[in-house]
Amino acid sequence: MTTLVVLLSTVVAGACGAKVLHLSDIHLDTLSDATQYGPDTFCRNPSDLPSAQRLRQTEAYWAQDFHYRTDRPYVQVAPVAPASAPFGQYLCDTTPALLNAVLGDAFGGATYDFVVITGDFVAHNQPNSSTTMYMFKSAVATIAGANANGVPVVPVVGNEDFYPDYNMDCKSREGRDHLYDLWSVLSTNGWIDSSQDQNFQTFGGLHVDVLQQNLRVVSVNSVLWSNRNDHTGFDHDPCGQFSWLDGTLGTAKSNGQRVWIAGHVPPSFNLWHSDYEATFMTIMKKYASIIDATMWGHTHSNSFFLDKNLPSLLGLITGSVTPNPVNPSYRVYNVTTRRSGEIVPSDFTQTYVDLHAVNAAGTFSTQPLFRYSTTFGADVSSASVKALHSKLLTDATFRRNYFNLEVSAYDNGAWDRIW
Ligand SMILES: [Zn+2]
Repeated sequence: MTTLVVLLSTVVAGACGAKVLHLSDIHLDTLSDATQYGPDTFCRNPSDLPSAQRLRQTEAYWAQDFHYRTDRPYVQVAPVAPASAPFGQYLCDTTPALLNAVLGDAFGGATYDFVVITGDFVAHNQPNSSTTMYMFKSAVATIAGANANGVPVVPVVGNEDFYPDYNMDCKSREGRDHLYDLWSVLSTNGWIDSSQDQNFQTFGGLHVDVLQQNLRVVSVNSVLWSNRNDHTGFDHDPCGQFSWLDGTLGTAKSNGQRVWIAGHVPPSFNLWHSDYEATFMTIMKKYASIIDATMWGHTHSNSFFLDKNLPSLLGLITGSVTPNPVNPSYRVYNVTTRRSGEIVPSDFTQTYVDLHAVNAAGTFSTQPLFRYSTTFGADVSSASVKALHSKLLTDATFRRNYFNLEVSAYDNGAWDRIW
């Protein structure tokens, strides 16, 4: 019996080798102004920011709290001379120069089978809906330009891709128009198959079939299920996305496909309405036999989640491209097809930008942050993440190292700080 299990989990020779790029939380800021670098400016001219009152309600504002908590208290970001920060500044969003450099690195020389982008293309603190759409369009076009081989891209919409953030509403004219505008950009760049036009225009979700149609990647719009969305929380199935999700997974099952789920705001951190999380988990449970991974963003950190009631469900969260407030990073999965048919992201490498160092050097470079299998001594799986979690609870040294990897070695050094 034991031998059989080992054989079943053995990699099929020749069936592995697919590579997938996972980018998240790009937060391109085309209004970023190098003359405005400094504490609490968000690197923008004040006239390009929302009102002070609205600013206080945004995630970016509260991110400063997180920034303080990652190190000693009362730390302030010091003003940085623009010439010393060609690639932008912590606590601000991604400048065009940083995005181009990260994408040049991620796509340069590497070939991928497909790319997953788990949302938040657009910078925080949008002054209006036109700037939101402009930045969305710019971010998507920049990524499409870097993807020179034109490999399939699975886009996911994030809370900042709506204006104001989280304002996703399929009932109002404005809400539907905004969704249509997002669709139009994605469609123009070839990221939405025409079979998915209707789905995306209705609720902001879609699926993409990849790896010779053996894998269906289902992109869900979890902004609809977020507890910060004022338009949902009352009805059982906002914009009909749950019923579609159930249907598209049902079709995948009858097609004999494996499934990955991709979303922006992850479940499991009290970020969703609890009813929606329960419904989502019921659907995940129903199709557990075909779902091999779920992938998310939003937290700007390299983390994981597991569900007590569905231990096989693996939640992979990748760090952000934006240095807000972490080092920029991206992830590449090695995909393995098991003899039993599962298509699993069996390992990944996280690559990061030491923003202090590249600004000081004036030239761009990246470094490997960690490889899952080497650092944690096992393939990526819900079982190995569970073991990692147990170790976090008991081993203080391991915990410190893990937290360093979570924020992509963002070190709170004195270089951009005053004390
Ligand atoms: Zn984000």
